[in-house]
Amino acid sequence: MSKKYVYAFTEGDGRDKQRLGGKGANLCEMTRIGLNVPPGFVISTEACLEYLAQKSLPAGLLEEVRHHIGKLEARTGKRFGGEANPLLVSVRSGSALSMPGMMDTILNLGLNRDTLRGLIRQTGNERFAYDAYRRFIQLFGKVALGVREERFDAEFEAVKRRAGVKHDVGLDAGHLKAISDRFLKVVLETTGKPFPEDVYEQLEIAIRAVFDSWMGKRAVDYRREFHITPDLANGTAVNVVTMVFGNLGDDSATGVGFTRNPATGENELYGEYLVNAQGEDVVAGIRTPKPVAELAHEMPDLYRQLVELRNKLESHYREVQDFEYTIEKGVLYCLQTRNGKMNAQARVRSSVDMHREGLITREEALLRVDPAHLEQLLHPRLDPSHGQKPLATGLPASPGAASGRCVFDADQAELLGRDGEKVILVREETKPEDIHGFFAAQGILTSRGGKTSHAAVVARGMGKPCVAGAEGIRVDSRAQLARVGELTLREGDLITIDGSSGAVFLGEIPTVAPVFSEELKTLLAWADQVARLKVLANADTPDMAKLAMDYGAAGIGLCRTERMFNASERLPVVVEMILAPTREARQAALDKLLPMQRQDFLELFRLVAPHPVTVRLLDPPMHEFLPSERQLLEEIEGLKAYRLAVKGRSAALAALHALDPVHPTGNELSEDLVNSVIAKKEQMLRKVRELHEVNPMLGHRGVRLGITYPEIYQMQIRAVLEAAAEGLKEGLPVHPELMVPQVITAQELSWVKANVDQIHREVEERYGVRLSVRFGSMVETVRACCRASELAALAEFFSFGTNDLTQAVFSFSREDAENKFLPLYTDTGILQDNPFEVLDVNGVGALMQMTVEQGRAANPGLEVGICGEQGGHPSSIRFCHAIGLDYVSCSPLRVPIARLAAAQANLLAPR
Ligand code: PEP
Ligand code: MG
Repeated sequence: MSKKYVYAFTEGDGRDKQRLGGKGANLCEMTRIGLNVPPGFVISTEACLEYLAQKSLPAGLLEEVRHHIGKLEARTGKRFGGEANPLLVSVRSGSALSMPGMMDTILNLGLNRDTLRGLIRQTGNERFAYDAYRRFIQLFGKVALGVREERFDAEFEAVKRRAGVKHDVGLDAGHLKAISDRFLKVVLETTGKPFPEDVYEQLEIAIRAVFDSWMGKRAVDYRREFHITPDLANGTAVNVVTMVFGNLGDDSATGVGFTRNPATGENELYGEYLVNAQGEDVVAGIRTPKPVAELAHEMPDLYRQLVELRNKLESHYREVQDFEYTIEKGVLYCLQTRNGKMNAQARVRSSVDMHREGLITREEALLRVDPAHLEQLLHPRLDPSHGQKPLATGLPASPGAASGRCVFDADQAELLGRDGEKVILVREETKPEDIHGFFAAQGILTSRGGKTSHAAVVARGMGKPCVAGAEGIRVDSRAQLARVGELTLREGDLITIDGSSGAVFLGEIPTVAPVFSEELKTLLAWADQVARLKVLANADTPDMAKLAMDYGAAGIGLCRTERMFNASERLPVVVEMILAPTREARQAALDKLLPMQRQDFLELFRLVAPHPVTVRLLDPPMHEFLPSERQLLEEIEGLKAYRLAVKGRSAALAALHALDPVHPTGNELSEDLVNSVIAKKEQMLRKVRELHEVNPMLGHRGVRLGITYPEIYQMQIRAVLEAAAEGLKEGLPVHPELMVPQVITAQELSWVKANVDQIHREVEERYGVRLSVRFGSMVETVRACCRASELAALAEFFSFGTNDLTQAVFSFSREDAENKFLPLYTDTGILQDNPFEVLDVNGVGALMQMTVEQGRAANPGLEVGICGEQGGHPSSIRFCHAIGLDYVSCSPLRVPIARLAAAQANLLAPR
């Protein structure tokens, strides 16, 4: 028996998305639950893969297709290629994962001179029939025969010009007939062959074209960008569906709908429609569609049916649906449904609402939101006090604000974007082939089309701001400019778009941080109840600590004290400490730093209590606080040249003065001052040379520094404990934690611990308080992993410094790898991900797992966390959960992402 490649909508299984594609599976599912779907069938993705591998259609496929066409004929009473009552079909792509607009679709297939005559006779509507015919030639010509679209556009425009009409609605049957004739000629001229008249030949060519579009540049780029690997979607199915027409007159219409508002998540039927039009008109933005609420007045009964359809879709799929429908002479058909792509705000709101409405569980609501997607909600908004008047206003199609330089084509956007330039892609309307321009741009602005136009849908999916249909802007892509009233925008002009209001401004407007919605707060509160991992933040300043706490951090997991040393008023004292020739001189400088650090820590305790503040003792090598050798050499040279010039000038002035005693002598810097600055710089230069290391990241840093200069760590330990004592006296429930960087041996830890214990006693005595302080070790060297049990005997907690640990495990310099060879490694698949971003679970992760096991075996109460960058990455968080960590600590902006990821890690963990 030959293989089965084709499934009627009544046969297919709605869950079989891999075989039937998302669209095909849903057409089967909708048929199964009794929705009014035009009859049709699906050719499987398996057929596509065999076709692509063998470069020919699988044996038996066309016979099966003929058989199913026969079934359609029987079901509809129409004949494929028949003149009397012709059957027309659409041929649509659809893979397991939705890739909107990335692959090809052909409508009105089955039209030729005979069936055209039949269609005219049958509908009595010559204009409609010629319109369908010219659309078919145009789409089929472009998609299946490779004719350039501009060739058709030029002919279309020529007829419109001659007819003196602006929109295609103004064209009559005669014009459309003329257009069809011109299109047929274009096909003959460009392909050297007449347009195929045999409807089965048309169908075969169309099937091949849809299969081929799986390997088209657009689709391949899209899959790469969104990491769609073959296990997620492999090949496209082909859906052959009986055509229904939304352009048969004023009792016909076509539209797209969302079961909830995809921009806000509000529970309302949302969408747009056009009366007397075909589906592509709505999406392509050729005519600006009407909001669906107007259908309630225009066709009240159909509006009621549409609301019913929406309710059925939502209660069946229990997910927000993005659906397409057509009304043919008063009958509503549902043509397609899929899970709606929404921005993060809408996704969060609809998930929380759906749980409250009893449609989904709390766990399902938590799993619906992609943690990485939350990043969108942390996008800036326009500063509300900017007070500028918009240049133009369009539809708020995808929220967020962005500024950038105008570019008028996608290639140019890509070129400038690659150079790091911020650009806004400005188009009349966008097409799927502009996708690379979307990736490169900060935001998208179009002058035509609605909220469901291509530009809007794609920008929303990517979380980029978009203003669509700003009709006051006339875009001339050919001339690379846009006109707004008297003003001309040229490539490179700065503009700002606000995708939340639809406003477009000239110039760059400042932005402000976003505010959390109630729904997001609710979702994250649910996440905290479900998660086992705690989420802390890496924060060193009061501003960062405040942000972290506002974003729901459960404390500070890493305070890098060196960042406090870099403040402008501190640096001279730090330099004094480094240059100190004796221990006493160093102590004198540290005595000046102590009150400053104490104040820093007290401020952090005030913001973070009752949560813990984990302070890491000084880590980076000393020379990081000093200028570079080159800079010092230049400064010294400059000062010496100045000294010489001043000498020469004074001599000249003295000579002048001798001749003319009233001439002023000028007020140069005194020679003594210049000499003393030179001496200081030379001293610094000697120190910089002395501190120079070939490999500073593997050099004199971390605890090695603390042991070499004990007074530094002692000052820091004292500052933390005194601040804690002061906090306690203020009534704050402080929880200080001290953490030692770069540890390799237990001896290092016990050396620091002895200092902590000593200072702890002194501070308690001096302040008359009982302080509790926890003591921990960073685990960021390979040796620390290997000696975990010894370290765990001394430490109350471990914190994985996976930035340094990754560097050590890979022997990659964390300073250089990312802009040298790593992009090549990830592009070519030698490495799946950048290990400094996503935890390398097989290498670094294996060491971590071993460390956790050995550490806990020696000290069952050992708390373990991570504070390297990977701690804010969702898949890394899943791994941290799996190996039993207690917390992750990440940058404040990633805290909400990590909270949700931590909950999902627990929900998805094998039980
Ligand atoms: C680390 O190494 O992962 C870490 C958190 O410390 P730093 O990045 O400051 O070296
Ligand atoms: Mg480190």
